[in-house]
Amino acid sequence: MLFDLQPKTRREDLYDREKELLEFRDALSLGERLLLLLGIRRLGKSSLLNVALRESGFPCAKLDVRSLYFTHGSIPQETLAKRILDSLLESLSAKHKLQLGLEKALSSIKGIRISGIHVEFEKKPDLAELLEKLDSWAEKEGTRVILAFDEAQYLRLSGIQYDGMIAYAVDNLSNLTFVLTGSEVGMLHDFLGLDNPKKPLFGRYAREIILERFTREQSEDFLRKGFEELDFKVTLSEIENAVNRLDGIVGWLTMYGYLRGVRKLSEKDALNELFRKAHALVRDELSSLLSFSRRYGFILKAVALGNHRWSEIKDYVEVKSGHVNDAKFSALLKNLVKYGYLIKTERGYEIPDPVVSEVVKTL
Ligand code: ADP
Ligand code: MG
Repeated sequence: MLFDLQPKTRREDLYDREKELLEFRDALSLGERLLLLLGIRRLGKSSLLNVALRESGFPCAKLDVRSLYFTHGSIPQETLAKRILDSLLESLSAKHKLQLGLEKALSSIKGIRISGIHVEFEKKPDLAELLEKLDSWAEKEGTRVILAFDEAQYLRLSGIQYDGMIAYAVDNLSNLTFVLTGSEVGMLHDFLGLDNPKKPLFGRYAREIILERFTREQSEDFLRKGFEELDFKVTLSEIENAVNRLDGIVGWLTMYGYLRGVRKLSEKDALNELFRKAHALVRDELSSLLSFSRRYGFILKAVALGNHRWSEIKDYVEVKSGHVNDAKFSALLKNLVKYGYLIKTERGYEIPDPVVSEVVKTL
C-alpha cells in the first residue's frame, strides 16, 4: 500500500525512485565500496534503502544508527558489532547454507557466541578483525556483503573513530560495500571528510545518490494512485490543495493519504491532524538543537516568517534574544544548513519543507 506509514520494504509499495534504484544496482555491480543516500527528512531514504537492499540479493546488515545512538547515548563497538552480525544472520535466515557458513567463518573470533541469529561477545570484539572475517567469507562465497547505516551522521557522536574503520575497510576489504544514509547531509559529509585532508577517508570515491522531492506531477500522481488503491474517491481540487500545502515531500503526502484514505477523516480534519502530528514530530527532531541554543529556533522562525537575507534574519534574532556577534550568528546559520533545516538559494535562506516551516512559526 502506497499510504503505509512505515518505511517501505517492497518494490510494489515504492512509488517511482526507478532512477535511484538503478544507480544503486549499478554501483553494486561495479563493486563500489561506498554509497551515500542523501536528502532531507521524509524524502524516502530509508524506504529506498530497504528496497534496494532486498533487490540486491546480497547478504546485508542494516542498522538504524539514530535509534542506536538515542538508546545508548553512544555507540560502543560491541553494540555495533553485535547489531551488524545479528542483522546479517537474519538476512540469511532463508539461506540456510550460507548462514551456517557464516557462523563457521565467525566462530574463530575469540569470545564470540552465536545462537540462531543472536550474537554475544564475551569480550570487546575487534571490529576490524570482524570485518576482515566478513570480507574473506564473502570472497569465498563469491558474494558481496552490504553494511548499511541509516542516518549514519550519528556515528560521529559515538566517541569512536568509525570513519577510520570505514576507511580501512574501503581501502582493504574489496568484498564489502558500505551504504550510508543521511538527512543531515552536511553533518554526514563532515563526519566522512572525503574532501578533508585531515580525515581518514580523504580522497576516497563515494557514489552519491541524492533524493529529490517529487515534482508537482509526481506528487499528484502519487496521491491519485494511492487513493485508487484504496478505492477512495477524491476530487482533483483536493489533490491539488494537498500538494500546495505539502509540496513533493513523500512522507507528508503519505501521511495525508493515510489519514484521509485509511482513517477516513474529512479533508479538513486530515490536514489538521497532519499538522498536529508534524508539530510533535518536528519539535522532537529539533529538541536537541534547541536545547543547545534557543537562537536556532529564532532563526528558523525568522525565515519561516519571510526573512531570507542574512541581515534580516539577524535583526529578527537580535530583537528576540539580544545582541549576537556576526561570527557566532553565521556559525549558527551554517549549522542549520548542515542539519538540513535550511537551504541557501538565490533568494537567501529558505526552509526546504513547507510543513516544517509552518511548525517553526509557532516556536
Ligand atoms: P526518510 O528515511 O528519508 O526520512 P522514509 O523512508 O522514512 O524517509 O519515508 C517517509 C515516509 O514516506 C514513510 O511513510 C514512507 O512509507 C513513505 N515513502 C517514502 N518513499 C516512498 C515512495 N517512494 N513511495 C511511497 N511511499 C514512500
Ligand atoms: Mg529514514
